[in-house]
Amino acid sequence: MDKNTRICIIGGGPAGLSAGMYLEQKGYTNYTIFERLDRVGGKCWSPHYNGKRYEMGAIMGVPSYYAVEDVEKFCGITHDGPKLNRNYKDAQGNVIEPFARTLGNIIKNPWLLKMKKQLTKFGELLETKYKGYDLNGHRGVAEGRYDGYAVTPGRERVQGENPNLKDLAMPFKDFCEKNGCELVQKIWIGPFTSFGYGYFDEIPAAYVLKYLDFQTCMNFVKVNLWTWEQGTQYIWEQLNAHLKNPARLNSAIEKVERKDGKVFVTVNGQVEEFDKVIVTAPLYIPNKRTDGQKGMVEYFDAREDEKALFSKIDYERYDVLAVETKPEHHPEISYYVFDNMVPEKLGHLMVYYRRWKQSVDQVITTYALRKHKNMAEVPYDTCKRMVLDDLKIMRNPASNVVNEWSVYYFPHVFSDDYAAGWYDKVEAMQGKYDTYYAGEIMAFGDMDETAEYSRELVSSETLKIGGRHLPPVS
Ligand SMILES: Cc1cc2nc3c(=O)[nH]c(=O)nc-3n(C[C@H](O)[C@H](O)[C@H](O)COP(=O)(O)OP(=O)(O)OC[C@H]3O[C@@H](n4cnc5c(N)ncnc54)[C@H](O)[C@@H]3O)c2cc1C
Repeated sequence: MDKNTRICIIGGGPAGLSAGMYLEQKGYTNYTIFERLDRVGGKCWSPHYNGKRYEMGAIMGVPSYYAVEDVEKFCGITHDGPKLNRNYKDAQGNVIEPFARTLGNIIKNPWLLKMKKQLTKFGELLETKYKGYDLNGHRGVAEGRYDGYAVTPGRERVQGENPNLKDLAMPFKDFCEKNGCELVQKIWIGPFTSFGYGYFDEIPAAYVLKYLDFQTCMNFVKVNLWTWEQGTQYIWEQLNAHLKNPARLNSAIEKVERKDGKVFVTVNGQVEEFDKVIVTAPLYIPNKRTDGQKGMVEYFDAREDEKALFSKIDYERYDVLAVETKPEHHPEISYYVFDNMVPEKLGHLMVYYRRWKQSVDQVITTYALRKHKNMAEVPYDTCKRMVLDDLKIMRNPASNVVNEWSVYYFPHVFSDDYAAGWYDKVEAMQGKYDTYYAGEIMAFGDMDETAEYSRELVSSETLKIGGRHLPPVS
């Protein structure tokens, strides 16, 4: 592709901004990033409160966030935030210890011993039977292949056949049971369901394990995590400030027409001409939303294949409240409520997060899911009331709600579509209409995997040849 190619990037979140960075590093400087809101960062939103920043969106990373590390190096920043810690409560608000902290306790507890055995077995199976499971993105998985870049600092290009990988299409619960490791769900559930990514009886194992590969999950267990003092939004603000072409804010793309090898984009009432477009904004939003978000098929001249594939995308309803408490009701630490991480407790408080250990003059953020594939959605106001009631039960009642957000979250497809090769069909469409699809749906809904997918998109042959093929393994 010509270095002067005019590239339109839709969305100034991690995927769009990192696409700009990686393009720039490859010498493609003729890109324009359009952001609908008056700020960058997308779901990394870190508002100010009493002189500090708190998190309404993304909170943490792990040491294998190599794409985020690329961004940090590009900007000269680092993960300098407060150390995370947590405890556990049951649904009645009693502090519990679901996992033994010492081997001594494990030996006395047969259930924990069984869990430990299953965990060891699970780790071995992932490395052997499911070799290749942890590559970023989903290319080839439904066909029993792996094809992409290893999650290592060098991100080596790897490729191979492994028919067992087809199992990753099944819901994670079935995947664990099939492999005789059902107890490991108790470990994976904390950083998965309570982080808004849905329930194990509905979400394909591929999403669970690509995000929470064995090592990453253990980093969560050991609380070996990254945070940023100025919040995760700061990462993307810094990146934006270091880009040759910072994002154009308050610029929602209203219309896109692709004809004669050109892309005509209507934004703020003006038509602008490009050669290619990278979409990091949602491709499809099934239910009408009140926040003005639209799926790309609504404002693009969407083709039949785009409509057919993208209409399969579902998403989560993940609600965040930022609340004040009286100092005497401020929680000592962050709490996980495992009892509430099951579909029967839809809409209940799953986690509450105390970010600043030293101060009680800061807000606490709460997290609840209110959508499950086979259940009626819990209405927003009902969920909010349930969460506030739960905080009372936890003996940390809120005195005031200062911020709230019901975010379009974790776009994904379900097992049937995954197994039918949804990802390979979309990968095969990359470039077909001078259009490239990136952002959360293409890998996973976290900062690093979206940024990493953008890296792959612009650093591979993909942009050049417009197909699903990555460069051959060297
Ligand atoms: C509560 C919560 C907790 C989270 N916790 C973590 C965590 O701890 N760690 C982690 O790694 N990740 C976490 N995430 C997920 C992470 O924030 C997202 O996966 C990541 O931000 C996705 O990046 P993206 O660029 O693909 O999408 P987004 O961040 O959603 O950015 C897309 C951007 O596109 C813009 N846009 C949409 N439509 C248009 C249009 N028509 N024109 C122009 N612009 C448009 C949007 O305004 C938005 O800024 C969390 C998210 C939330 C909400």
